[in-house]
Amino acid sequence: MNAAAWIKPPESTASSYTVKNARVPVVLLSFAEDNGTKTDDVLNSVSSSKGTPEVAFRTTNPSGDRDGLVLVDITVKDGIIARIKPSSEGEEEEEEGTVLDAKKGVCMPTFCDIHTHVDKSHTCERSRNESGSLAGADKSCQIDEIHWTEEELMARMEFSLKTAYAHGTSAIRTHLMSGPTQGALTWPAFMKLREKWKGRIELQGVSLSILSFFKDEHSSRNLARTVKAHKGILGAAVSCSDYGGTDLDPHTTCGDEIHALLDKVFQLAIEFELDLDFHVDENGNEESKGLLHISDAAIRNNYKGQIVCGHCCSLAAQTAENLEIMLQAAKRANITIVSLPMVNQWLQNRCELGEKTPRRRGIPLLKEITTRNIPVCLASDNIRDQFYGYGDLDMLEVFRLSVFIAHLDRPSLGDWPKAVTTTPAQAMGIGETHGLLKEGGPANFVIFRGRQYSELFSRSQHDRLVVRNGKWIATTVPNYDELDPILDHHALSKTQPLIGSNDSKENRKTIV
Ligand SMILES: [Zn+2]
Ligand SMILES: [Zn+2]
Repeated sequence: MNAAAWIKPPESTASSYTVKNARVPVVLLSFAEDNGTKTDDVLNSVSSSKGTPEVAFRTTNPSGDRDGLVLVDITVKDGIIARIKPSSEGEEEEEEGTVLDAKKGVCMPTFCDIHTHVDKSHTCERSRNESGSLAGADKSCQIDEIHWTEEELMARMEFSLKTAYAHGTSAIRTHLMSGPTQGALTWPAFMKLREKWKGRIELQGVSLSILSFFKDEHSSRNLARTVKAHKGILGAAVSCSDYGGTDLDPHTTCGDEIHALLDKVFQLAIEFELDLDFHVDENGNEESKGLLHISDAAIRNNYKGQIVCGHCCSLAAQTAENLEIMLQAAKRANITIVSLPMVNQWLQNRCELGEKTPRRRGIPLLKEITTRNIPVCLASDNIRDQFYGYGDLDMLEVFRLSVFIAHLDRPSLGDWPKAVTTTPAQAMGIGETHGLLKEGGPANFVIFRGRQYSELFSRSQHDRLVVRNGKWIATTVPNYDELDPILDHHALSKTQPLIGSNDSKENRKTIV
């Protein structure tokens, strides 16, 4: 229980209570068919509350107030959201059971983080990326491998799960190092943690390989078999280095072989009935058109599974004509695009020597993608490792920074709250139970003290309240010193210098 809670939680024995005056993004509400309340009623209640900004702006934006928020009362019974109805200001209606006042704080369903690398998390100090570049990340990531043991891997992964859980995340998809040495550690650790965290965090795993890996028929089939045995998702990095789309990238672009290799990936996915999750176009190169090649391969192979494509930064470097071609193909192929804005801001266009300020920042054309009705998710990607030196798996931070970076707040945040909740839940195949405030669904939600986005995004909101299956959970994140015994024991005596190394332009072989 959070001692400093600004809303007194209900008695732990209370099976029924109502959270009044919660300000919810209207796009995250779902009403039961047989309940009197419908989305229209909620919207009408907004327009009838005279004198509020909602009225003035409702004509330009029919989705809630000008930011798409509505005030509702949420009744919880036995861990389920029993009812959601418009808050009736002034009228004190008798509610069944305990009534708690959210004081107009923003309330969202628990978050779904669809792209992470929890197996690498918290290794940034022992194997530091000295240049902060992609090439530096690759080198230091490879160096870190010598420290990996089952014990330290489990400790770091679980630390990350505890952190995400405390911040209000209920589903995480993590990519897993899947080479022979690390793969032997990551997949069993993932299985143990998925079982241990069942009911708290829905955990999904994706194999992480570069496209050229699929040249080896035997290894490829073994990987697909491993992924299937662990109920995982098949992954590949495509056109996803600094030199993606050019001849200087033999690992993830693979020249003319790209089409045949993608066919192999799709054929394996079809044969083993696996969903797919790609790292793609993580660069600012116009030549980098991995998204197009993946879309074409999906259509060519008549693939019916779920396809997720992470990064897609090179969309920003395309001509208008090619952008249209790429997005139309992605739409036809039913691809969900995942943007990882924090990591891309840190890594992309980084000067190896640390002397220059970045000019071209890595962000896919999020608005243009959604305009074409292609689902978009926002996610964490790496935290405190060689690919990103910071981060805490806090999806509010991801959402906030994405809003700033991609200007998602004007004309209105509208549907964007779905990008950290509903859309990833659907892409992960758990949309029935995650990503919505849904009557009849589990009472899994986060209440923030900030009442509007301007308040929500201006403070850290670390005094948020997290409710899981109707129960208030502890929202204290684990202390970093918990990891000291693990990290100290395995620490290098000194980090190896990377700046100025003559192979700094070497193609990256490991992937963010
Ligand atoms: Zn990444
Ligand atoms: Zn990644």
